[in-house]
Formats: sequence, structure tokens, C-alpha cells
Amino acid sequence: MSDVEAESLYVVATPIGNLADMSVRAIEVLKDVDVIAAEDTRHSGHLLQHYSIMTPTVSLHEHNEKQRSELLLSRLQRGESVALISDAGTPLISDPGYRLVSLVREHGINVVPVPGCCALVAALSASGLASDRFSFEGFLPSKQAARKQALENLKNETRTMIFYESPRRLNNSLSDMGIVFGRERRACLAREMTKLHETIITRPLVELQSWVESDSNQQRGECVVLVEGNRIEKDATEEEVDRVLAILLNDLPVKRAAAITASLLTVSKNKAYEQALKLQHN
Ligand code: SAM
Repeated sequence: MSDVEAESLYVVATPIGNLADMSVRAIEVLKDVDVIAAEDTRHSGHLLQHYSIMTPTVSLHEHNEKQRSELLLSRLQRGESVALISDAGTPLISDPGYRLVSLVREHGINVVPVPGCCALVAALSASGLASDRFSFEGFLPSKQAARKQALENLKNETRTMIFYESPRRLNNSLSDMGIVFGRERRACLAREMTKLHETIITRPLVELQSWVESDSNQQRGECVVLVEGNRIEKDATEEEVDRVLAILLNDLPVKRAAAITASLLTVSKNKAYEQALKLQHN
């Protein structure tokens, strides 16, 4: 038995390919709620059957989300419990559910996340790209002019950027990314994660694009593209430069100390020299 409570909406993550990635808690919650709102009831039927989940389902997709949310709200207000699932991964992440969750919260009803798979997090965790800060960009526009503009707007983004991409547009998108971000910018293609043909590869954009172009198998299935952020080097602060100079000036002449400081920190030799002179006269 799960901890399912009346008058609560459970936002339940489901697998992104491998059914074994379903959490024990997710199974229990889906068994115990009064109704499951699924993006596509037929698609989710396979998963529910696999785990012998007999709970009734209703559909909630982008074309009926407004009306369905009202209906589910009234069921919740009558004391029922509801679970929301999407076709794969975490609902609301490039999937329907935002309207339902915000409506339900506006009415003071409990919303409980049941976390699990999410393609963007899985891809980031295995990409080898910086994971301390990132920006999820969802799907790029399908028309080339709009896509290029969207990429131009991200040119100076310093965080790792994560895109969901359709396999049909993958080659063109990688090529546009190479033009806008530079051919040598590192990127990762995470394709068919948790499935038979899982491929996760990190290369400079130019190499990634020509590999995808030359192998049509790479233009199939589901994919996430991650691009390294722009590495704009931040100038060292005066305090940082002074700290290094103070140590070096104990043993070295001004010119030599300034040159070493400039090679260790992002500061010009002239600037380091000026600061070294000031330090000596203080
Ligand atoms: N809600 C989902 C999540 O939590 O990741 C994403 C739904 S979005 C409509 C579907 C997109 O997620 C796909 O087009 C693809 O970009 C990405 N995706 C989903 N499953 C994937 C997988 N197994 N491998 C790679 N990308 C996947």
C-alpha cells in the first residue's frame, strides 16, 4: 500500500524506454489513486498492464487539457485522488500538465511529485559536459530561420544547454549549431537512452554532425542534444592578482613575477606589471 491521500494530485514520472526504470512508489501510487490522467491512454495502457495496474484512466493531452483540468479539479474537490502521467518521463517537462497543476494549486489542493526518469537529466548525467549549471531549452523551432534565431539568442549562454530534438531535424540542427556556436564547441548526442540502441557520444559539433550525416541510423529514435556553454574567460580580480603577486615578489623581480602571474591568471602582463609595481611601493 502507498501513502496515497484523498484530495491530492500525484505527478508521477514513468520510464523513458526501459520499463524496469519504474519506481516502486510510482507503481503503488498508480494502483491506489482513484483515477489516472494519461497523455495517451492507449500508449500508457502497455505500462499499466505490465505492472498489473487496474486503475481507470482518462486522457489529458494538449488539445483537451483546459476542460479536463476543470473536470479533474472537481473530482479532487469531491475528495478523490488523481495521478498524472505522460507518455514518457516526467509530466510537464515538454509534456502536458502545467495547466492542471497550476489550477489545482490555485485551489489549495495538495500536489505531490513522484519523481523518476527525465530524459534531460539522464542525458546530462552521462554527457561529460558541465552539470553544475544548465539551461533546458526544450524543442527548437522547426523552421530554419526561427531555429537559427533561437540559437543566436543563446550564443553567449555560459551554462550547458539541453535541447530535445526530433530525429528528422537532428542533422540540420547540429549543422546550425555548428554555424552559430562554432564548429569546435563540444556537444553530446544522447539517443535512445535506456533502450537497445542507446548511444551517448560527446564530440566537437563538427564531428558530431558529420557522424550523424554519414550514418542514417543516428537519425532514428528519440534524442537529446547538449551543447557546452560559451567559455567566456572571466578576468581575474585585482585582489586575486595581488595575492599571487605578493607571494612571487618575495623571491622574484617585478618583471618575472608579473609574467608568471599573467600565465597563471586571466590578466594581461602589463596589468600584472602595473600592480606589481604598486605592491612594491606600498
Ligand atoms: N517528459 C519527458 C521527459 O521527462 O524527459 C520528455 C517528453 S518530450 C515530448 C519527448 C522528448 O524527450 C523526445 O523527443 C526526446 O527529445 C526526449 N526523450 C524521451 N525519451 C528519450 C530517450 N529514451 N532517449 C533520448 N531522448 C529521449
